[in-house]
Amino acid sequence: MVSKRLQEIPASGTIAISNLVSQMKSEGVDIVSFSMGEPDFTTPDNIIEACCDSLRSGYTHYTPSLGIPELRKAVADVSRKESGIPCDQSNVLITPCKQAIFLTALAYIDPGDEVILSDPSWVSYEACIRLAGGVPVYVPTYFEDKFVLDPAKVEAAITPRTRMIILNTPSNPTGCVIPRAVLKQIADIAMTHGIKVLADEIYSAIVYEGEHVSISAFPGMFENTITVSGLSKSYAMTGWRLGWAIAPAEDIKAINKLQSHSISCAVSFVQKAAVEALTGQQQSRADMIKEFRRRRDIVMDLVEEIRGFECNVPDGAFYVFPKYNRDIPSAKLAEILLREGHVAVTPGTAFGPHGEGFFRISYAASEEQIREGMARIKKVVSGL
Ligand code: GLU
Repeated sequence: MVSKRLQEIPASGTIAISNLVSQMKSEGVDIVSFSMGEPDFTTPDNIIEACCDSLRSGYTHYTPSLGIPELRKAVADVSRKESGIPCDQSNVLITPCKQAIFLTALAYIDPGDEVILSDPSWVSYEACIRLAGGVPVYVPTYFEDKFVLDPAKVEAAITPRTRMIILNTPSNPTGCVIPRAVLKQIADIAMTHGIKVLADEIYSAIVYEGEHVSISAFPGMFENTITVSGLSKSYAMTGWRLGWAIAPAEDIKAINKLQSHSISCAVSFVQKAAVEALTGQQQSRADMIKEFRRRRDIVMDLVEEIRGFECNVPDGAFYVFPKYNRDIPSAKLAEILLREGHVAVTPGTAFGPHGEGFFRISYAASEEQIREGMARIKKVVSGL
């Protein structure tokens, strides 16, 4: 029998669908997959070369658990320059972004502590909170508000047990980018009540409209925030598992204690490649982001052609989150689309109860796949 802790959480909805898609593809089924938040591009050449060089030069051993100094410095430099986070390398721990979230939850949540997060939001926050013994407190966000979190609702959800607020801007699954003024209000609330913020900024480079704002950059907030991010989405490096946490040095020390007892350190030669990713040419990243924007516009046109579908134009990330008017649970709709249309999407309820009536399309796929997949969705739903 597995632990009670584990019994209480479901497996990751996004990973479960992706596993199923891989299995169906290996059985020869022609699937169009919009399920996984994963760029279809290959990692840029300069990064691959840096990795190969590092391997060939024997860079195959453990590194310090915090990460190699040149990468910690590169992360701090980029985060200061691009996001205004007032950090230096002593504030950086190198670890996969998901691991950073998991370790942060373990480091700061005690049994019974409440953690505020928006509904819908990415699938694994709730699992991390629960594994740490905490209680997720969902604050609904609404289609009509472009899914922007309402600071008044955040404040109303605070109790004496509230320990943390999780923010994710740009958002997975809605593509919502929280405006500066709203984020400032949330920062003020967090500081007034002495609540830590976990800011997941993995999509920070992928913003089409408006601006990405790091909550940690507001005066007084650096001391109160753990910012996590990584290379997966903006450098097409999902399989490399490389990210980081940025926080005051004492928080980094606490999280590093867990790192030392779990993965020891991030992969050595990947860390070398990551230095190249952050300090080498940035044209490939800019080109990929430009292409995501073009695909967003294509997918939006195609969604709007489907009768009964409504969708906000997402300002960032690479997801659209359409609302549909059929009287079918979103999990069922996703199942029908996969079974009958051979197109994989993620049901809205994978992201929280308020995701019912929606589903997520990841458009980090080729234009051809987008057109084919959307035609399949249109065909299946026209019969429902
Ligand atoms: N974050 C991506 C997604 O939402 C990858 C899978 C995962 O980590 O959940 O699809």
